[in-house]
Amino acid sequence: MHSSCDNPDYDYAASIAGRALRSMAEQRIAPTPANFAVWYRYFAGSHDDLRNAIDLLIDHNRPFDARTNQDLFETYVVPRVSAAVVDTSERLQTLMGTAMEFLTTAIADNRSQMQAISEVADQGKAGVDPKALVAQLMNELARAATRATRLEAGFAEKTRELDQIRDSLSRSEERARTDMLTGLANRRALDEFLRKAQATAEWGEPLSVLMLDIDHFKSFNDSYGHGVGDQVLRLIAKVLRDKVRTQDLSARYGGEELMAVLPDANLAACAEIAERIRRAVAEATITRRSTGEVLPSISVSIGVAQYRTGETIADLVERCDRALYLAKGGGRNRVMTEAELDRA
Ligand code: GH3
Ligand code: MG
Ligand code: MG
Repeated sequence: MHSSCDNPDYDYAASIAGRALRSMAEQRIAPTPANFAVWYRYFAGSHDDLRNAIDLLIDHNRPFDARTNQDLFETYVVPRVSAAVVDTSERLQTLMGTAMEFLTTAIADNRSQMQAISEVADQGKAGVDPKALVAQLMNELARAATRATRLEAGFAEKTRELDQIRDSLSRSEERARTDMLTGLANRRALDEFLRKAQATAEWGEPLSVLMLDIDHFKSFNDSYGHGVGDQVLRLIAKVLRDKVRTQDLSARYGGEELMAVLPDANLAACAEIAERIRRAVAEATITRRSTGEVLPSISVSIGVAQYRTGETIADLVERCDRALYLAKGGGRNRVMTEAELDRA
């Protein structure tokens, strides 16, 4: 057995692992391989997105429940290179090989054609019957034309294959950025969108966000089951998606919290859209799909905030979150903006 002292790799990994396990124990996070993978990465420190996401949860005193842990794992740990991507890159390699062969054949064809023509020309100088020369030349050209047509057909087929590969790549790219339950953007896509929007907002364009949380969702789940709860979450996601503009992003922030990012919208414009979302949800009729039974209506609380030049995205989200909790405290089923925050 080696002692740990002379093995820096071991010492480093062991100290990260120790910190991860201690922190997980303090927060009562089950020491499963998936959770460990998340927290090891957190302490290893090389994963900024994951670190930001966790710090945000900690700052907001969010519990690391099973769902949150699973979200973290799926968003930040699950290997990015899916089977589809591997398959696609193999197909692409084969395709490149074939294209190379086509090219080589075409070049060789061209050479032999040149050769044939120059031979005919030499024979012409040597005084051979011109009629025979022309016939020979025609023959050579006809053969080259046939080969070119065959090459062209082959190329057309490979181009179609290339289109298929491009489609399949963009589908898997889409999947990697989408939340499976709601079909909205996932955290990864949201973070990226926010970062880009922030860069534009630094030039003075307004940028607003709204954060939505379902009211008393726990008791709704308890009464009607998680499946019906999921159905409601999907319905609310659809309302959100339908009410924002095409240039906006609607995303699942976590569990039952959804978010929309509205570039080019000030606080008042964003609050107006938030109000439309709130009303549409409150007025929606929810029926249990299996029985057709009409369930009690559901409501959402929404917080709205506008980006201030120079602040971080975390500052903006935090203010939006505080507005949301003001809406909760004010009796739920309402929209509150950061303006009310100052007054409160
Ligand atoms: P309120 O927000 O009004 O304060 O009350 P709440 O009961 O909604 O409280 P909280 O936001 O703390 O609870 C969130 C609950 O949402 C816990 C969990 O049962 C439920 N939830 C979170 N994610 C999902 C999900 O993906 N599907 C379903 N069906 N339920 C979820
Ligand atoms: Mg919540
Ligand atoms: Mg809630």
